[in-house]
Amino acid sequence: MAQQKQSRMTQQRLVILEEVRKLKTHPTASDVHDIVRERLPRISLGTVYRNLDLLSESGEIWRLATSGTQYRFDGNTENHYHITCVVCGRVDDFEGPTVEIGGASPAETLGYEIVDHRLEFLGKCPQCRDGSSDEAST
Ligand SMILES: [Zn+2]
Ligand SMILES: [Zn+2]
Repeated sequence: MAQQKQSRMTQQRLVILEEVRKLKTHPTASDVHDIVRERLPRISLGTVYRNLDLLSESGEIWRLATSGTQYRFDGNTENHYHITCVVCGRVDDFEGPTVEIGGASPAETLGYEIVDHRLEFLGKCPQCRDGSSDEAST
């Protein structure tokens, strides 16, 4: 807060970026904190939050607008959708065609220019479905 170090990516931010890009699990800030602490034992959760915010603002990572109480982060910034388990909150990539909106859309009628869109699928993940059925996995 007191100091502003701009332009140069700090060591902390680089480590956070590397770890988020490695993870496919769409971690929350505290998940990232747990992992990054193995490399930077003294890093605080607040620092992790701040760097995740900076990284998502600069487009290096995504901050996901998924259901749930905590933001989740994604190192994969290619256009893709997510499916969220309504039971445990797990988030997976949802492979499928992405939506292209062209021509006169309802948003244009309202006078909007579209800059982004969000689409989230909700479901029950295999583990949570196990509670009600005996289907073996794989
Ligand atoms: Zn689940
Ligand atoms: Zn993803």
